[in-house]
Amino acid sequence: MRIDPAKHGWLSEPETRAVMEALGNARFVGGAVRNALLGAAVTDIDIAVPMPPEESIQKLEAAGIKVVLTGLEHGTVTAIKNNKIFEVTSLRRDVATDGRHAVVAYTHDWSEDAARRDFTMNALYAAADGEVFDYHGGIEDLIAGRVRFVGDAKARIAEDYLRILRLFRFHAWYGKGEMDDTALRAAADGKLGLKQLSGERIAKEMLRLLECPNPAPVLRVMAASGILPEILPFALQWPRLEQMIHLDADNLSTPDALLRLAALLPDDSAAARGVAERLRLSNADRDRLEDLADGTARALAHLPARDIHRLLYEMGVPAFQDRVRLGWADAPPGANAIPWRMLLSVAQSFERPRFPLTGRDVMEAGVPEGPRVGKVLAEVEDWWIDNGFPPDETLLAEKLKEAIFE
Ligand code: ATP
Ligand code: MG
Repeated sequence: MRIDPAKHGWLSEPETRAVMEALGNARFVGGAVRNALLGAAVTDIDIAVPMPPEESIQKLEAAGIKVVLTGLEHGTVTAIKNNKIFEVTSLRRDVATDGRHAVVAYTHDWSEDAARRDFTMNALYAAADGEVFDYHGGIEDLIAGRVRFVGDAKARIAEDYLRILRLFRFHAWYGKGEMDDTALRAAADGKLGLKQLSGERIAKEMLRLLECPNPAPVLRVMAASGILPEILPFALQWPRLEQMIHLDADNLSTPDALLRLAALLPDDSAAARGVAERLRLSNADRDRLEDLADGTARALAHLPARDIHRLLYEMGVPAFQDRVRLGWADAPPGANAIPWRMLLSVAQSFERPRFPLTGRDVMEAGVPEGPRVGKVLAEVEDWWIDNGFPPDETLLAEKLKEAIFE
């Protein structure tokens, strides 16, 4: 089996070739090989090398390729050539594992490295010329859409409980039909091990799962096997998530993992905050999730235009679009799509007008410096928003006088 460099640009790009040539005996591994064989997009390129990291660093630098020490403790360095990024990892075998971390030793043996990878379809390697090396029947599994552990599922999960979530993530993306029974059973049996994992690692897998075209069937299996409640212990809103997925497909919108998570969660800001904390989301993501849990999105389709403009002005376009997508997903099945499409189109063309008055104008009109300045200003701004943001300055000056002297 060979990946044809002529058909796979990433393989024949000068940057890729330069890095592979500098390293000498190196092979692509993991997602790049898997996706190339599937004809799917290759976004990040992982390279495996049968030499310790110090040697990779020296070889890359000797060829004038920039090296960043990103994960030296697990044998990874990042090579950068013309802004293209390559993760270069030394072949490893596990010496000890504890369910979260592994103590590794470097090796020259490709098959030892393959044996510590999670799934057969992720243990595929390709040489610089595209020749594929498959140590565990990964090609066959890939074609069949079977996400199968390398070795004994139970043992592999006990080494690193994150593999439970990876099982579902990869099945959602590359699986066909039912999940591998042995793997699923081992995952359900190991679910309590998820408690040991850091929020960041859980979040990364969960968000990548949510981002696949249709994560709902896999999430339902996770729920039925008691795994999902370990991460999202709430009454979940399946119909809303399913409708959002459906709308994403219909409207060709890029799946948004966090928005889908918001759709699945109950409208309960304490729950949203709890999830954000457990998954150690960024403050921005936490706020976004929490704001979306306020239960107001559904009503958007019935608001008069004036209120829509106010919301757009006050919350900004992206937050408004979030609400529309969530509200639409929550609309009763068969509900009219027109109001929702209208909202999206209004949002898309909305340019936030700048309120022309400032505190200085208020003071010049006779209000002494102090808290009343802000109050008067806010009152006029409120009127201005309600009236569709009229740009007429004379009108605003009159309104200002009215607010001061009424
Ligand atoms: P993607 O395209 O989603 O990045 P990927 O296969 O590259 O898919 P990564 O999470 O980037 O997935 O991991 C790269 C490779 O490292 C995997 O293909 C797998 O071989 C190995 N790997 C990553 N995490 C683990 C793990 N927890 N246990 C075993 N092997 C792993
Ligand atoms: Mg990857």
